[in-house]
Amino acid sequence: MSLKPIVIDNLQNQDSKFELTVLGCSGGPLDGRNCSYLLKNTTLTYNEIVDKDLKDQFICIDAGSGISALSDLINNIKNKKVMSENYLLELYTDSLSVDAYTNCQTLIPFNWSAKEKEKISPYGYSINILKLLKNIFITHSHFDHLSAAIINSPALHSKIVYGSNVTLSNIKKNIFNDAVWPNLITQDGTFLELKELLQGEWFPLNKTYRIKCFQNNHGSYLDNITGERKIYESSAYLINHLNSGRNLLLFGDVEPDSESKQNNYAGKNHIIWNEISQFIINGNLAGIMIECSNLPITNSNEPLYGHMSPLHLISEFLNLRDIVLEKLLQKKGNNNNICNNNNNSCLKGLNVIITHIKESEDGLDPRKRILKELQRLDEMNNLGLIFTIALPGLTYVL
Ligand SMILES: [Zn+2]
Ligand SMILES: [Zn+2]
Repeated sequence: MSLKPIVIDNLQNQDSKFELTVLGCSGGPLDGRNCSYLLKNTTLTYNEIVDKDLKDQFICIDAGSGISALSDLINNIKNKKVMSENYLLELYTDSLSVDAYTNCQTLIPFNWSAKEKEKISPYGYSINILKLLKNIFITHSHFDHLSAAIINSPALHSKIVYGSNVTLSNIKKNIFNDAVWPNLITQDGTFLELKELLQGEWFPLNKTYRIKCFQNNHGSYLDNITGERKIYESSAYLINHLNSGRNLLLFGDVEPDSESKQNNYAGKNHIIWNEISQFIINGNLAGIMIECSNLPITNSNEPLYGHMSPLHLISEFLNLRDIVLEKLLQKKGNNNNICNNNNNSCLKGLNVIITHIKESEDGLDPRKRILKELQRLDEMNNLGLIFTIALPGLTYVL
């Protein structure tokens, strides 16, 4: 299934939905278009936000890409190239068209036809947008999720950077320390202010959203002082739109619970699945953005380096399905039509956006192969998930 992008004028007639703009989504080793997403609701366009100088109407999740990617996106909109040319697809000789990776609704997030806009450069317009951004959420402190926040920081005024205790501590001690980079972390609102999010608790962000941060496992490492094996912590964010009650779940880098178990520490994904299962039952989960970094791994001993492969991701969705099924079965007299108990397809129709795919060295498009494998495994397990492969510069409506 492939849908044409909708034009911005039609948005006024839509219900409020999540609008997710991908600035970058590569899991490396490419040093560009790394993970970063802008999120707002469809009720307000970026044109309205800029024209009316409205602050705090959109948020940023991860900052592996920033001003450069946003300027390029604006330039592509100006030149009407968003759906025809794509930076990551053009790196390979066998890539398909943008449509082939896109199975949810998309839109063009800016209107560039107004005459006054023609006087503004793409870079100037990107700065105008970023001036109005207030809140940045970081999943973990790896550079592919943070590098643009560092390089862009002299242009980032009055921003609050949220994250777990360990993520913020890494950012403060190891990056903005006047050695690696000037210390632009200030409490007076000049540049960046850090704010810790407590795990598993709703944080009331503003009049539009509340957000819950979950800790998850992203591999492990040997502490070079104590020699102990330590878990590397990443985060997932559950974003609740207050008016509609709808929710969107966005993961940073994450390994499967089976891998954690194999390495003798507790997996944490099942806690997140348990939390969102109720939203699936009630029809209030708009979608999930999750990583699938690695190409199909056939040998189970092959290291995952704290990430997912299609087989592992599908096994996580099977865990989620089982939790939803169990809750549905506990409900007395349940006749909920989300779940058809004959084929266990209670995740049917759920939008899943795949991000953080690692670039391949064989010159062949890894995104094409991962999509095909996910769809094959989904069909085999009768899950009915709708996969979209995230591409930089695209805006998804969920
Ligand atoms: Zn990463
Ligand atoms: Zn990472």
